[in-house]
Amino acid sequence: MTTTRFAPSPTGYIHVGNLRTALMNYLIAAKAGGTFILRIDDTDQERSKEEYVDAIKYDLEWLGLHWDRIERQSERLERYAEAADALRAKGRFYEAFETPTELDLKRKKQLNMGRPPVYDRAALALSEAEKARLRAERGDGVWRFMLDQQRIDWRDGILGPISIDAASVSDPVLIRGDGQVLYTLASVVDDVDMGVTNVVRGSDHVTNTATQIQIIESLGATPPAFAHHSLLTGPTGEALSKRLGALSLRDLRARGVAPMALLSLMARLGSSDPVELRTDMAELIEGFDLEHFGAAPTKFDENDLFPLTARHLASLPVAAVADHLAEIGVPESLAAQFWAVTRENITTLQDLEGWWHLFRDGAEPVIEDEDRAFVAEALALLPEGPYGADSWSTWTAAVREATGRKGRALFMPLRKALTGQAHGPDMAQMLPLLQVIRAKR
Ligand code: GLU
Repeated sequence: MTTTRFAPSPTGYIHVGNLRTALMNYLIAAKAGGTFILRIDDTDQERSKEEYVDAIKYDLEWLGLHWDRIERQSERLERYAEAADALRAKGRFYEAFETPTELDLKRKKQLNMGRPPVYDRAALALSEAEKARLRAERGDGVWRFMLDQQRIDWRDGILGPISIDAASVSDPVLIRGDGQVLYTLASVVDDVDMGVTNVVRGSDHVTNTATQIQIIESLGATPPAFAHHSLLTGPTGEALSKRLGALSLRDLRARGVAPMALLSLMARLGSSDPVELRTDMAELIEGFDLEHFGAAPTKFDENDLFPLTARHLASLPVAAVADHLAEIGVPESLAAQFWAVTRENITTLQDLEGWWHLFRDGAEPVIEDEDRAFVAEALALLPEGPYGADSWSTWTAAVREATGRKGRALFMPLRKALTGQAHGPDMAQMLPLLQVIRAKR
């Protein structure tokens, strides 16, 4: 059975970059009728925060990316210790004592000699007595996994065939001197224990994958199918990494981006399929194919989210926004009419409040000097409200008759006088909602 996982570290908010990872894993599981696991990678106790765990869950719920199971690495430390013992028993795990400064020096020397900065495995030569002495002096060492120095090959679901020479990679540290289990070990143990069949993650993890394949195999398990999506860049190809903080889901939500707009964009960006606004999750699942994604960096422009949000909103029935309308004070009796008039004239739901206030309180009239006499004459012909569906056409016909103006010269000054704006919904539909016409006073 297909099982995927989204494995954020709770050290920050979800942003558009890791949303892509979450969404792809979700869609793969959903399409196959499989299981989607939310795995909280919280072995780093100093940096992990409970508020981020809550925020991650909130963001995923907001998007409708429901998980079938939640797991926390901090509750599985025993399993990691067992796996470490198994690797030790297999002779694939060794303790090393170099300080960061010593390692740095080694790397610099290697680079000076034109060699790749790969850990030289000096620790393997230590006798038990030397290790005991170092332990006494420096505390416990780190535990490194001894890579088999062959090529590691896999067929990546996005990148195609990948081959990495393990000899060019340092033996990864899986346990720190203070006993903290590092992500690489915890992640492979979880993937094996939880029966994860497919892993999609960012292409910054490609080298990790190479080492993880060996660790999984040395634990006697079969590696999942891996796919690495390209990293997002800004619209002109600039690195997005520094801006990702501002592109968190909570920020986009605060700016009024609709979940369906975000999901529709992210499910297609970087693939050969066009971005299409989807109505619901079922359509997204149906239209998703990992095979269609390419390796090239993917350009992301947050501005694309707003037209999609506008189109999404325009398609919604009033019931979908009823809560929001009540919140901004639109009476239930006017909700359907208000929504019908405004829904095609907003970018985000936040724009509704402005329209509501305009209808409720009246707009500051905008009247050009050359239109002053015309507007005064026209307003004198406007009967008292309330207005109905025909009021606008009856009134403007009378104004045309009286003034001889027609077309834009007739309508635009009236629109600006009544709404204070040159753009907006159809005047015939708007007039019945206008509860105050300040220009008339
Ligand atoms: N916690 C890891 C990260 O956020 C998970 C990577 C993975 O998918 O294995 O980078």
